[in-house]
Amino acid sequence: MTELDCEQVLQLVWKFLDGEMDETRYLEIQAHVAACAECGPRYQFQRRLLALVELKCREGPVPTELKRRLFRLLEE
Ligand SMILES: [Zn+2]
Repeated sequence: MTELDCEQVLQLVWKFLDGEMDETRYLEIQAHVAACAECGPRYQFQRRLLALVELKCREGPVPTELKRRLFRLLEE
C-alpha cells in the first residue's frame, strides 16, 4: 500500500466529500489519520478540514450534500 502523506490525505478527504471517491479509499484515509502523529489528533485534522471548507465556501455556495457528508464525517 502506498503511504499517503498528510496533504494527500486532506485532498482525498475533499474528494470523498465531493462524492468522487469510494469507501475503500476513505478507509485508507482513516488508517492514515489513526497512525499519523500529525493528523492523529482529530481536533487538528478537523480544523484543517474545516479551513478547507471555508476556503471552498468563498468560491461559491457549498452544496447541501457536501455539508451533509462533512458533518457525518466529523461525527464519527
Ligand atoms: Zn498525516
